Amino acid sequence: MLEAEIKQQLEQYLQLLENDIVLKVSVSDDNVSKEMLSLVNEIADMSSKITVEQVELYRTPSFSVNRVGEDTGVTFAGIPLGHEFTSLVLALLQVSGRAPKVDQSAIDQIKSIEGEFHFESYVSLSCHNCPDVVQALNVMSVLNPGITHTMIDGAAFKHEVESRDVMAVPTVYLNGEFLTSGRASLEELLAKITDAPDASHFEDKDPFDVLVVGGGPAGSSAAIYAARKGIRTGIVAERFGGQIMDTLSIENFISQKYTEGPKLAASLEEHVKEYNIDVMNLQRAKRLEKKDLVELELENGAVLKSKSVIISTGARWRNVGVPGEAEFKNKGVAYCPHCDGPLFEGRDVAVIGGGNSGIEAAIDLAGIVKHVTVLEFMPELKADEVLQERLYSLPNVTVVKNAQTKEIIGDDKVNGITYIDRDTEEEHHVELAGVFVQIGLVPNTEWLDGVIERNRFGEILVDRHGATNVPGVFAAGDCTDSAYKQIIISMGSGATAALGAFDHLIRN
Ligand SMILES: Cc1cc2nc3c(=O)[nH]c(=O)nc-3n(C[C@H](O)[C@H](O)[C@H](O)COP(=O)(O)OP(=O)(O)OC[C@H]3O[C@@H](n4cnc5c(N)ncnc54)[C@H](O)[C@@H]3O)c2cc1C
Repeated sequence: MLEAEIKQQLEQYLQLLENDIVLKVSVSDDNVSKEMLSLVNEIADMSSKITVEQVELYRTPSFSVNRVGEDTGVTFAGIPLGHEFTSLVLALLQVSGRAPKVDQSAIDQIKSIEGEFHFESYVSLSCHNCPDVVQALNVMSVLNPGITHTMIDGAAFKHEVESRDVMAVPTVYLNGEFLTSGRASLEELLAKITDAPDASHFEDKDPFDVLVVGGGPAGSSAAIYAARKGIRTGIVAERFGGQIMDTLSIENFISQKYTEGPKLAASLEEHVKEYNIDVMNLQRAKRLEKKDLVELELENGAVLKSKSVIISTGARWRNVGVPGEAEFKNKGVAYCPHCDGPLFEGRDVAVIGGGNSGIEAAIDLAGIVKHVTVLEFMPELKADEVLQERLYSLPNVTVVKNAQTKEIIGDDKVNGITYIDRDTEEEHHVELAGVFVQIGLVPNTEWLDGVIERNRFGEILVDRHGATNVPGVFAAGDCTDSAYKQIIISMGSGATAALGAFDHLIRN
């Protein structure tokens, strides 16, 4: 069943197997079972180190990847191809004994976890956010005998997805209870099951020369530029990587014809770690105050001090702000069409927003769902002409302009949306299962209220050195009033802010 190219890649990877492994497969006579059996047999035929055993597992069809004589708890309920192909390859290699490519501190932390942790992750094979979660949980299962993980393809286990009301992927259950939904790194997942470092963990830190707030393209670039000056540099980031963690293909990062967001985020992290930079990931800043030094208070109460600070807190999806949006988030209200689109296969959905991202989402979804209603507030769509042409060529899309979304309606999950026709002021109701909100971004700067000057959109005002109105405080990237918000522009402004901060340090 494997295509020639994939088979060739897999053959090469399988030469790296260190020890024998056993694939235990549980199948019946449905089509997915047949495909799964053919996949595991094909894999076993490629390496003398792999054997297949037919057994009965908790889910059928599924297969687990095990050491000889020892179950690891790594199970795939579904065919791990598409975006999960890498998860399959890594599982085979890691179970065979190849060390996972994660920090030694994370390995030690996983090994030291005590107790029973049975993870189940619901994914779709077209979800680019899912493999990180699957791979992180697999690493945890491989390293700790108390931890198991089953990846479940929602398309193959629709009854489970429905009975557990899973409407966003990846969704992770732990010991039968909902744990988290959406992309999460190994570090983030570990933080959910272990004690987070409290304020005392940060107490003994000496003041920094440059403290960067935000770990996206702008923050990473700023930290690298600062550290290369040989000065004491730290980064506080709520989630290292930033928006690119939610981006599939990137084709305008100059020098790379094509890359993917998570891959770029991983190289940013690797580059940052090349330098002596104190990376404080999974920490949110909540207050900034200029005293002798600039003081940054974290959500956990710790106060970090620095001679200069670079704010690069980027932006997040803008909420439509109507009743039902927050209530039904991940219960029919979604923001990532690539990830969650497949969960609405054959059903009706709406996209709120007629800009480029909204229309791209509508085109994408039209190939999967039964019908898409696009709701645009303005009298015209704002998307590029070429996207509009493509949209209007699709038979299962309705575009409603001048439409003000009033409410997203549901019981335990979304079942409709109401909007006001701004021309006639009439209210309309559309029955549907999902609403994708695509109305742009909002800067993450509320926490700077009354301290740093911002424009009416909340963007930080900076001069050409990246300096804000507060001496010693600089800003870069999407959280600033830069005319365009792009990766390469954020990286450039991160560099500018770091050089500006260095200049400030040597003059003061
Ligand atoms: C779906 C999508 C597709 C895109 N595609 C492209 C593309 O193809 N090409 C392109 O050039 N650009 C693209 N962009 C835009 C690009 O991703 C952004 O311009 C870029 O990521 C901005 O970088 P940044 O570092 O300024 O901010 P972000 O990437 O938003 O990073 C902000 C960082 O700050 C952290 N943070 C936020 N608040 C706090 C706080 N209070 N305390 C601590 N940390 C905090 C975040 O966790 C994160 O680490 C896309 C954006 C999206 C959403």
